[in-house]
Amino acid sequence: SIRSVAVIGSGLAGLTASILLGQLGHSVTVFEKSRGPGGRMASKRVGSGSADVGAQYFTARNPEFLSFLQRWAGSDAFREWPARFRFQDDTLNWQPFPEEKRYVGVPRMTAITRALSAHVDVTARVRIERLERSGNQWQLVCTEGLNHGVFDQVIITAPPAQARELLLASQLDGLAEELENPVDQILPCWAVAAHFSEPPDVNADAMRPHSEVLYWVANNSSKPGRNDSGQWWVLHATPEWTKAHVDAEPGHVSKALVGEFAALTGADARPDETVAHRWLYARSAWSSQPGYRYDAENGVGLAGDWLAGGRVEGAWESATRLVAAIR
Ligand code: FAD
Repeated sequence: SIRSVAVIGSGLAGLTASILLGQLGHSVTVFEKSRGPGGRMASKRVGSGSADVGAQYFTARNPEFLSFLQRWAGSDAFREWPARFRFQDDTLNWQPFPEEKRYVGVPRMTAITRALSAHVDVTARVRIERLERSGNQWQLVCTEGLNHGVFDQVIITAPPAQARELLLASQLDGLAEELENPVDQILPCWAVAAHFSEPPDVNADAMRPHSEVLYWVANNSSKPGRNDSGQWWVLHATPEWTKAHVDAEPGHVSKALVGEFAALTGADARPDETVAHRWLYARSAWSSQPGYRYDAENGVGLAGDWLAGGRVEGAWESATRLVAAIR
């Protein structure tokens, strides 16, 4: 039977669930608190282009993930990023990443979620605060106190801390209790995009350093289809450094990360422009959850990367499995 479903969140998990449920004939509405879709597959406008400040790349170990993207986002929306990936081992030597295909959105990471969102009905700038019982259905209420319709089923794709708040406010204590495990927490991350008109002399495109400050460094301009003049680099701080500087000024953060980048690479790195973005919820600390949660009695499901490995592909996997369980 056809059901009305509300999906909370328009990151990859929410968009995947919406498309698949729509395909099954259900009537789906997506609610997103931000201005646009994408969630943590995010790009920020910088200079004349954009830089990916959230997810850096993704894998498609499950071939069905690629088929899904080709069908619903289109093969122009993403491409392989054949970069020189290096990590620094315990003895501080640089090693290549294992051989694997790594993909990015083209010309920016958000191209994928933008294309996917064309197939679904997204109501942006609405932050759902709670679900209220309305007979057998759920009424959605936003933080402005407005009602946003009644639905047979609700799928929540917010990160665990936010999902838990939503569940508690909706008297769904059973599901909320399952989110109390501290390993489910998502760690914060300061991200900085820095522009160099003189490309720094670095012998890799993407690096995971052995550093207390930097978790990840990548030449965003080396991704396919960027066409930047000069180079935009993206620097991600470690969760520990981010926690210790969570309320720091963006200018201070940029300076610290660029300084560490210069120390790490020996490059005479002097950016002419920097942009900082703070993620309070970036990546899962650890996760080996079963993929999704579904409370069939209440008609409420949870999906998201944090339920399936904390990565882009996991977000898709989690949503796909939840939809298979609901049908
Ligand atoms: P999200 O993308 O977080 O989507 C959740 C959505 O719900 C958001 O849009 C949010 O605004 C919305 N929302 C939340 N609460 C509400 C509410 N109450 N009402 C309405 N809307 C709400 N993954 C990789 O695979 N490779 C990487 O290299 C990589 N690097 C990363 C680097 C950083 C800095 C970050 C932040 C993440 C990185 N990730 C990476 C992780 C990857 O981005 C995520 O795994 C994936 O994008 C999560 O998708 P999602 O749909 O589960 O969650």
